[in-house]
Amino acid sequence: MNKQLVEFQDYVVKAKKIVALVGAGLSVSSGLPTFRGSQGLWKNFNMIDLATPDAFYIDPGLVWQFYSWRRYGALKAKPNKGHYALSKLSQYQDIEYITITQNVDGLSSRSNHKKDNLYEIHGSLFELKCTSFMCNYVERDNFHNPLTEALRDTEYEFDKQNRKRSLDTGDEDVTVSPQFTPVKQLAESDLPQCPVCKDGSLLRPGVVWFGESLPLQLLTRIDNFIESGNSVDLILVIGTSGTVYPANSYVDRIKLKGGKVAIFNTDIEPEILQGKVENTWGFKGDAAELLPLALKPLIGDL
Ligand SMILES: [Zn+2]
Repeated sequence: MNKQLVEFQDYVVKAKKIVALVGAGLSVSSGLPTFRGSQGLWKNFNMIDLATPDAFYIDPGLVWQFYSWRRYGALKAKPNKGHYALSKLSQYQDIEYITITQNVDGLSSRSNHKKDNLYEIHGSLFELKCTSFMCNYVERDNFHNPLTEALRDTEYEFDKQNRKRSLDTGDEDVTVSPQFTPVKQLAESDLPQCPVCKDGSLLRPGVVWFGESLPLQLLTRIDNFIESGNSVDLILVIGTSGTVYPANSYVDRIKLKGGKVAIFNTDIEPEILQGKVENTWGFKGDAAELLPLALKPLIGDL
């Protein structure tokens, strides 16, 4: 067996406080495209028209069709073994543990991950929140499809030739050509509305849009977990380069306090793979396969 794997497994069974930092790479083998990189979602869209507060203000019907389509894609995908491995970690009583995910696909939540130690720092496609400044209504894990009658048939892939969306063919491949085109014009009354506000304020997707700040309350809770009590023994960096704020700061702070780092990704620096970077292990490949294997001494078979 690989020397790094043996060392890691020896360490992980003794770890008492663990953080997992999750990025798009974990969901790739569930069939969801990553945002950046060659298959990146934003290569095919203009994010300014679809994923900003201004876009929603100008045409909420367009933005909701886009999110209806993304919700549908994420719902067709299934959590993979990597998600289930972390879900198992989240259930243990004798380990202090949190998952920080940059993914909005809801797959960690659907793998029965405990809710109170799952931090979706970019929000979730399956969270709805009120657009009114006066209202703090939030609904988590709404997996209904379609969300409203008018959004029915807006969630399938658009078939340019036939000028309509092709219905589900039963094809499980959800990665094919993400070319989003809206199907119809929608009025505000067609869209999800806040059940609390009397004036029928619109609900919006609970994702962090371009130009918005990350949810401060969540970041504070993560900071408290890392900074108070016992120091973190181990951070698992999964399917992400971990170079974007705040992800990079978690790795640095945990290392600084004597914690170790284990990276699971398709792309890892050679120095790490050769074991030349102190207190850092690198496991190159599909995180959905590598994670259950590496964590096996701790979580057993899935
Ligand atoms: Zn409201």
